[in-house]
Amino acid sequence: MSSPADQPDLKAMLSDLRTLVDIESPSTDLAAICRVMDVVEHWALDLGAETHALPGGTRLFNFGTAHQVNAGDEQPILVLAHADTVWPHGTLQTMPWREDGDRLYGPGTYDMKAGIVGLFHALRALNHQWPRGGVQVLLSPDEETGSASSRAHIETAARNARAVLVVEPPVADSHNLKTGRKGTGHFSLHFQGVASHAGNKPEEGASAITAAAKAVLEVQALARPEIGTTISVGLIRGGSAVNVVPAECVLDIDLRVSTLAEAERVTAAVQAMTPDDPRVKLTILGGLNRPPFEQGDGSLGLFEQAQTAAQSLGFTLGHEFVGGGSDGNFTAPLSPTLDGLGAPGDGAHASHEHIRLDRWPDHVRLLTRLLQEV
Ligand SMILES: [Zn+2]
Repeated sequence: MSSPADQPDLKAMLSDLRTLVDIESPSTDLAAICRVMDVVEHWALDLGAETHALPGGTRLFNFGTAHQVNAGDEQPILVLAHADTVWPHGTLQTMPWREDGDRLYGPGTYDMKAGIVGLFHALRALNHQWPRGGVQVLLSPDEETGSASSRAHIETAARNARAVLVVEPPVADSHNLKTGRKGTGHFSLHFQGVASHAGNKPEEGASAITAAAKAVLEVQALARPEIGTTISVGLIRGGSAVNVVPAECVLDIDLRVSTLAEAERVTAAVQAMTPDDPRVKLTILGGLNRPPFEQGDGSLGLFEQAQTAAQSLGFTLGHEFVGGGSDGNFTAPLSPTLDGLGAPGDGAHASHEHIRLDRWPDHVRLLTRLLQEV
């Protein structure tokens, strides 16, 4: 099925990747992230894209989309990528670019600068034969910190797309794509009690710590790990001195859910919590951040197309529901979404972060096929 022209140029891909990895781009430094985006925008312009800089730092690159070529109301394929990494400036000194056999190590390689590079090599392989409706690439600056500035842009683009392909990496050390992801939430519970001298007038005090301690057990009892709902009170802070009945206590809670129904059940139960002592006031902040990316017909249908394409390219693909979130969580409720179409490897957010050079070209060919066939 494949001709030599289909073969991605691994040497050129590595050179492009080196360019991006050499520009360290932690989520906290928008100027550095913009330098990565400028390089990518240059690649996009070379391919004839129409480009947009959106408020907050997100960039959009349109290839053959309807309003460019007046192709009627066909909806484009949306491809999501992010230019930030979890790695602070200076990481390259302790975790340098390093090739070791089939593995290429470096900060942000697997998550997900190789995904960006692979995407542009897949786009180039289309040779300006854009699919109906075209391709819209959205490059965000803040995926690793929850996508506060890009979420609205991502949702707007997803509503207008007929399918969403996410070039986050495949499941670690495998060819497996991601057809679902847990949703993530964060609650902050602020207990306000009444301070008092612990020795002279303890009865005049209302302990925020006692109320919070009871809440820790109540909240964690809401977990249902057998269906994917996990809850962890990760931070607790309160009190002012050992001899003062504590007036304040704060709990920070991490929530993971596999379904929206579970998110709603837990949120309702948390919102309904009331301290036993009426003198303790409870304020609840936060909630669900990324909704669950539920494994639905849309993503499974896209996966079947990918599986067929991979077979014809000579390799076998699997798919998984994974615990971590991505921007695919925002798009899955709005448009069929397939995630994990970046570069295979391992070690996201870890010092052994790397991609697999022997497997990478196959995944670029797969992405080219999907852009043609979805
Ligand atoms: Zn990522």
